[in-house]
Amino acid sequence: MIKRIAVLAGDGIGPEIMNEAKKVLMAVASRFSHTFEFVEALVGGAAFDKSGSHLPQETVRKCEACDAILFGAVGGPVEFKDDPKWDCAMKEAILGLRKAFDFSINLTPVRVFSALRNNSLLRDEFLSGSPSILIIREFAGGIYFGEHSTRVKNGNRVARDVMEYSESSIETVVRFAFESAMKRKKKLTCIDKSNVLDCGLLWRSVVERVGKEFPEIKYNFMFIDNAVFQILKSPLSFDTIVTDNMFGDILNYLSAVFPGSIGLVPSASFNANKFGIYEPSGGTAPDIAGKNIANPLAMILSLALMLKYSFKMEKEAMMIEKSVEKVLDEGFRTVDIYHDGMKRVSTSEMGDLIVERIKDS
Ligand code: NAD
Repeated sequence: MIKRIAVLAGDGIGPEIMNEAKKVLMAVASRFSHTFEFVEALVGGAAFDKSGSHLPQETVRKCEACDAILFGAVGGPVEFKDDPKWDCAMKEAILGLRKAFDFSINLTPVRVFSALRNNSLLRDEFLSGSPSILIIREFAGGIYFGEHSTRVKNGNRVARDVMEYSESSIETVVRFAFESAMKRKKKLTCIDKSNVLDCGLLWRSVVERVGKEFPEIKYNFMFIDNAVFQILKSPLSFDTIVTDNMFGDILNYLSAVFPGSIGLVPSASFNANKFGIYEPSGGTAPDIAGKNIANPLAMILSLALMLKYSFKMEKEAMMIEKSVEKVLDEGFRTVDIYHDGMKRVSTSEMGDLIVERIKDS
């Protein structure tokens, strides 16, 4: 099978972890006789240096001509956020891509690798139950895409961010969540703040309406504040979660508590035509960029999601996941998940190990 993949490595650790993903994809290609063509495109600060834009039109055009997008990360060190190279880099690049392709659904699988139980911040009693949660987040609307303004009123600065959801935009995500829950444990939790926000009330009413079409699914509702506590207190009682853009953002980082590092959390986003972008949940990690020590596994696991969801290559995706498990079982660790007695490896060594396991399997 021939597939064209837009490769948007971005900034910071983006290019380092993307290199490893590409190596792994080439190993999958030769193992299964596929052809993957990489179409490199600039985004974020890297694009700004060349074109003065964080998301050049050329990048959007290249993505349009591909079957899927692999995305690293964008943004600079937080202390340089006012530098024109970094100012609004994330907003323009990431939100720009979401808008250009209408990526309205984001999913983040959250799990604990058995070899990494010691790294997980969860209590032992939960780890034996192998918690696994799928977080489905609305990705193209809500407060991040509403109007933003700051004005001065009586000498006092006043900021305003508008949160708006239409019933149809909620329904797209909610329907995807019910369909996903059908393939899992048939349990869905809708997380909102409907005790305060009208948007939350609308979410609940859409879940109740769509839920009637899925009588096998047990669904419940939870407020975001309580949910953060309950996910940590009793993770085994969750299976599929559906939530809005901002609460999903918070839950994505919370999910790093399960494997013990944000460098292990992959994600996938889709539009209504199932065109997808695949990226690690973390950012550019400026504190470790350029040192060849970042964990490439979230990027490599995002690649597995691309094979599974965009290309329907289940066996190939499974082989990547199994290779990651094998390498972790053998004790290899990047610095973010390293502890005494383990074998410490660099970003590129971790990529090489996954490639070797794919070749050996
Ligand atoms: P971050 O995720 O970049 O880093 C938070 C912490 O996690 C850091 O200690 C970092 O070293 C660590 N970390 C992240 N990924 C890692 C990996 N693969 N391996 C090992 N450790 C890893 O978040 P931040 O520091 O808040 O943001 C830094 C920059 O990234 C900012 O400019 C921010 O806007 C941007 N950002 C981009 C994205 C994205 O492109 N999707 C997401 C979040 C943040």
